[in-house]
Amino acid sequence: MKFGGSSLADGSKISHVADLIKSYSKNSIVVVVSAMGEVTDRLLEASEKAERGDQEYVKKFSVYIREIHLAACKNSIRNKDLLEETSKRIEALCDELYRVLTGVSLLKELTPKSKDYILSFGERLSSIILGGALRDRGLKVKVLTGGEAGIVTDSNFGEANPLTEATFYQVKERIEALISEGIIPVITGYIAEDQYGKITTLGRGGSDLTATLIAASLKSNEVWIWTDVEGLMVADPKIIPEAKVLPKISYEEATEMVMFGAKGMHPRALEPAMVHKIPILIKNTFNPEAKGTLICDETSINKDKPVKMVALIKDVGMISLIGGSMVGARGTAAQAFTTLAKQGINIMMISQSVSESDISIVIKRDSLSKAVNALELSMLGKGIVRDISYENDVYVLAIVGAGIKYIPGVAARVLNALAKEKINVYMISAGSSSNSLSVVIKEKDGYLAVKKVYEEFNLGDI
Ligand code: ASP
Ligand code: MG
Repeated sequence: MKFGGSSLADGSKISHVADLIKSYSKNSIVVVVSAMGEVTDRLLEASEKAERGDQEYVKKFSVYIREIHLAACKNSIRNKDLLEETSKRIEALCDELYRVLTGVSLLKELTPKSKDYILSFGERLSSIILGGALRDRGLKVKVLTGGEAGIVTDSNFGEANPLTEATFYQVKERIEALISEGIIPVITGYIAEDQYGKITTLGRGGSDLTATLIAASLKSNEVWIWTDVEGLMVADPKIIPEAKVLPKISYEEATEMVMFGAKGMHPRALEPAMVHKIPILIKNTFNPEAKGTLICDETSINKDKPVKMVALIKDVGMISLIGGSMVGARGTAAQAFTTLAKQGINIMMISQSVSESDISIVIKRDSLSKAVNALELSMLGKGIVRDISYENDVYVLAIVGAGIKYIPGVAARVLNALAKEKINVYMISAGSSSNSLSVVIKEKDGYLAVKKVYEEFNLGDI
């Protein structure tokens, strides 16, 4: 069971989580925790202020971080001795954090390694509090960092990659031993260790990955991701207020959905569960009775109801390269993509017509001007690309459903539904994924387009 930051945002929420874990404690459970609330964001901010030498901020921040964690102890641990013991451990960690931040502020230097070290305090603090709250409820627990639990990564600080074989082996050995003694391991999400024992982080939102890695190592029956939403939804409830939660979907569909921004879990975390066929259940911490969404190995291609979800991806822009001489000019696409890659710009969607006279590319909107500049410098005036145009008022409308690539008529129905509302489609990408179809439309048409696709495919009927 993994609990996200919003599920652990204060002492009363931590109490609730501890009670919840207790209610399931007849099963063998491993608990994975995120940092409390927005603590990781605050730590990031503090590390950057420290790098600029802002010692005043470091002082104020250290008081703040100590206060919120001590308050959480007080509001979740009732036994006096346990409270005192846990608070002491929190104090010791906060002292250490203060010294580290002060060190950074004196040196005015923040390496990726020291940044990861600073960020690790969020989960190290929250796990100790939840551990105390569980002991307070009579459970036997052991609090471990990701590294102590056996998660090993490369030394790519900030976005470390797990070394899976070593991780599987170590986690199995260390965690199974605890479980067989009736102990609940409480493990910090997000943080791990490289081969030299240095603390690394798995990238933002990495606690979900910690959970699925541990589950894969232990061949767990299920992974439960406890969060602040009911599960994966058929559409954004801000656009479709009556949109429902999907009770069950395949890993492939879930991957597309979370990549298209569906709230629930981190896309990377699906992989270990998918490979080892471990079902993932997304559940709402604050409404545990609700069924949630089960993500599992069942690819239910349903010809009568091919589409499962519609999403709108908002922060995008589209660039088009146009020129008759592009026809047959080998390497034009490669040059465009390389130019963008050199600028560190990620390409989200591509299309080129078979006439080869134009290529359209979708990227994040905030890199649009940088991308256009770079492309103009490298590609214009060479007699191949005649014009580079861009649109910054577009959205991507994405439709997800298992195997829609192989079901005739899905694209036609999408395009028809849009055409009936006179919504123009600027770009289409289909077929590269078997499970999704993306079209570019104007921003002003976005919400209506979602509604029409929702109606066309009867997404309200689950
Ligand atoms: N606390 C980390 C973050 O906010 C990891 C996580 O929550 O999954 O990114
Ligand atoms: Mg988080």
